[in-house]
Amino acid sequence: MKESNCIFCKIVAGELPSNQVYQDDQVIVFKDINPKAPVHLLMVPREHIISLNELQSQHDSLIAHCLRLLPQLAKQQGLNNGFRTVINTGAGGGQIVFHLHIHLLGGIVIFTHRCT
Ligand code: AMP
Ligand code: ZN
Repeated sequence: MKESNCIFCKIVAGELPSNQVYQDDQVIVFKDINPKAPVHLLMVPREHIISLNELQSQHDSLIAHCLRLLPQLAKQQGLNNGFRTVINTGAGGGQIVFHLHIHLLGGIVIFTHRCT
């Protein structure tokens, strides 16, 4: 399942360092190297899935696991007032690392976009 040229696969395999805050049998979570907020984590499935476009029904439980973990991690990071999640998909969606990951951001009022 490991993609030899993938930076996140190398982090999952322990071949590259990361500032890890959580891991289990399905995902690892580490600090973004170029944080856009005081808390900026990346949740990365151990399996090399390129993006949301490549998800299949076999991944349903993995995705549910990821979503349910996010509020737990946010709380652990002291984000008691809420948090933002971002998933960039494909070049047109601003994806740079082509191994599915969820950004977890928070810690200051950084969000100007509101649906009112
Ligand atoms: P994107 O693919 O646009 O959703 O974002 C990829 C993210 O991965 C960016 O926010 C980068 O700062 C981050 N990133 C890239 N390489 C590393 C690394 N070695 N360790 C931690 N974060 C990284
Ligand atoms: Zn990968």
